Amino acid sequence: MRVFAIPMRTRFRGVTRREGVLVQGPAGWGEFSPFAEYGPAECARWLAAAREAAHEGWPAPVRDRIPVNVTIPAVGPERAFAMTKESGCRTAKVKVAERGQGDADDMARVEAVRDAIGPDGRVRIDVNGGWDVDHAARMIRALDRFELEYAEQPCATLEELARVRRRVDVPVAADESIRRAEDPLKVRAAGAADVAVLKVQPLGGVAAALRVAEACGLPVVVSSAVETSVGLAAGVALAAALPDLPYACGLGTLSLLEGDVVRDPLRPVAGEIDVRRPVVDEDALRRWEAPAGGWRGRALAAQEHLDGPALIEEAP
Ligand SMILES: [Mg+2]
Repeated sequence: MRVFAIPMRTRFRGVTRREGVLVQGPAGWGEFSPFAEYGPAECARWLAAAREAAHEGWPAPVRDRIPVNVTIPAVGPERAFAMTKESGCRTAKVKVAERGQGDADDMARVEAVRDAIGPDGRVRIDVNGGWDVDHAARMIRALDRFELEYAEQPCATLEELARVRRRVDVPVAADESIRRAEDPLKVRAAGAADVAVLKVQPLGGVAAALRVAEACGLPVVVSSAVETSVGLAAGVALAAALPDLPYACGLGTLSLLEGDVVRDPLRPVAGEIDVRRPVVDEDALRRWEAPAGGWRGRALAAQEHLDGPALIEEAP
């Protein structure tokens, strides 16, 4: 069990350092990096994903490259234009509804991104649940002047998402509404979304996420939990194994971290990530290695909620 702590280039979920555990097994390395606020029962699924990576491996890929989106934070239009151009991506996800900003800021940012990516590129917005139903319906219609691919989590609840979806022509994607395996089915049943954003760790692994994708029947966008290349490789494996992949994925997140634990990180080139599994590099890992702190206890507590063979041993 090796613990890492890597500073983040920009604050994310109030976090300034991304921390987690790496474990090695016969199938390779796995990452266990639940966010600090998650309790043992929730963490069990994250641990199941690490165990799958270390001991079982992943389903066979059906493609060898994964298109990814660039994410444009709540910056001004000039910066948004430049970031989109520099990324080389053909899909941009624009963050909107930032606290302290107004609708005009969002309009200007989305317009700049559309200008930068051109008429053939795709532009999606991510609201992170920040609008109420009326605001969402109004803004999605207004922003669709710039041709939106979809609007991600325009409101917080399933019921609100369903109401927005009935009022706009732009597809709606559910992200925060999907945190556990049964959630995509609820999203589908509520008529709350056209697209499901899935992450490997919270769903308990690649095979589990594939079953969720199949059961919910919605097109899937695979997203990361801002992992090192070890955790990202599992997301890449999921995206590679899905029968259909109609949208660019949210796996181009390594740029949010100051460093990585492999020599050849899973960074996008020309908007795509190669389907491969980089190996942990001892020098790189040592650079970011941190004291175990509470991580062994956290992993053991999670393991209590997990059936099957143990991954983490009690401290010697
Ligand atoms: Mg999102």
